[in-house]
Amino acid sequence: MAHRALITGASRGIGAAIAKALAAAGHEVILNYQSNQAAALEVKAAIEEAGGKAELACFDVADAAAVKAGLAALDIEARPIAILVNNAGIARDNPFPAMSAEDWQAVTHTTLDGFFCVTQPLVMPMIRRKWGRIINISSVSGVMGNRGQTNYSAAKAGLIGATRSLAQELAKRGVTVNAVAPGLIETDMVKDVPSEFIQHIPMRRMGRPDEVAALVAFLASDSAAYITGQVIGINGGLI
Ligand code: NDP
Repeated sequence: MAHRALITGASRGIGAAIAKALAAAGHEVILNYQSNQAAALEVKAAIEEAGGKAELACFDVADAAAVKAGLAALDIEARPIAILVNNAGIARDNPFPAMSAEDWQAVTHTTLDGFFCVTQPLVMPMIRRKWGRIINISSVSGVMGNRGQTNYSAAKAGLIGATRSLAQELAKRGVTVNAVAPGLIETDMVKDVPSEFIQHIPMRRMGRPDEVAALVAFLASDSAAYITGQVIGINGGLI
C-alpha cells in the first residue's frame, strides 16, 4: 500500500537515494533539507521524471520551532505521514582532546534532538492508524565506535537506544522502529576519508547510497511487519 513518507536530509547522499527508492515503491515522498534547495529541487525533479510524487520541506530537524512550523505546513492532520526516515545527520570529527564543545553539541544536537523533534509529533497519528514505519539512520560508528568520532559515535549509539525503546513502546500498535547502521557510503560526508581506509573493508569498496536505500525501502514495506527494534548493518563486512 502507498503511504506518505518523510525523509529528513533528503537533498543529498543517502537521504536522496532513500527518497527515490520510496517514491519508486509508490509512496508520496516529502524531501526535508536544511539549506541546499538547488540539490533538493534536483531530487524532486528526478522523482517526478520517473513518475513519482515529491514535495519539499525545508527545516532544521533540531530546531523545535522550525520543525513545528514545517510539519504544520505539511498538513499532517489531514494527510498523515506513515513512514518516517530520520536520516539527517552531520559529522564534526576530531580526536577527543581537540574536540570543541561546539562540535560535540552540533553533532549530538542534530542527531538526537533532531530525532525527538521530528518523531514525537508523528507517532500519535501512526498509533491511531495502527500502521507506521520509523527508520533511523545510525552508523557502524554508533555500534563499534571509531577514533576521532566520539561525538558522532555517542549520537549514533544514542539513536540506537531510542530505536530499541520506542520499538518496545509501539510494537503492539502496528508501528515498527528500526535502525540502519551503514559503514562507509560514498557521499559528500566521507569525501575526506583517506582512500587507504578501503583496505579495512572486507569487500574493498565503499557502499553506494542506493544499496542503503534498498534496505530502507524493505523496512518500510508491509513485508517487514515483524521486524522491529533491530539494528541492521550494511557495511561490506566491516563488522
Ligand atoms: P550528506 O552530508 O551527504 O547529506 C546530509 C543531508 O542531511 C543533507 O540533505 C543535508 O541538507 C541534511 N541535513 C544536515 N543537517 C540537517 C539538519 N539539521 N536539518 C535538516 N537536514 C539536515 O550525508 P550522508 O548522505 O552521507 O549521510 C546521511 C545519514 O547517514 C547521516 O545521518 C549520516 O550520519 C549517516 N551515515 C553516513 C555514512 C556515510 O558513510 N556516508 C555512514 C553511516 C551513517 P542540506 O543539503 O540542506 O545541507
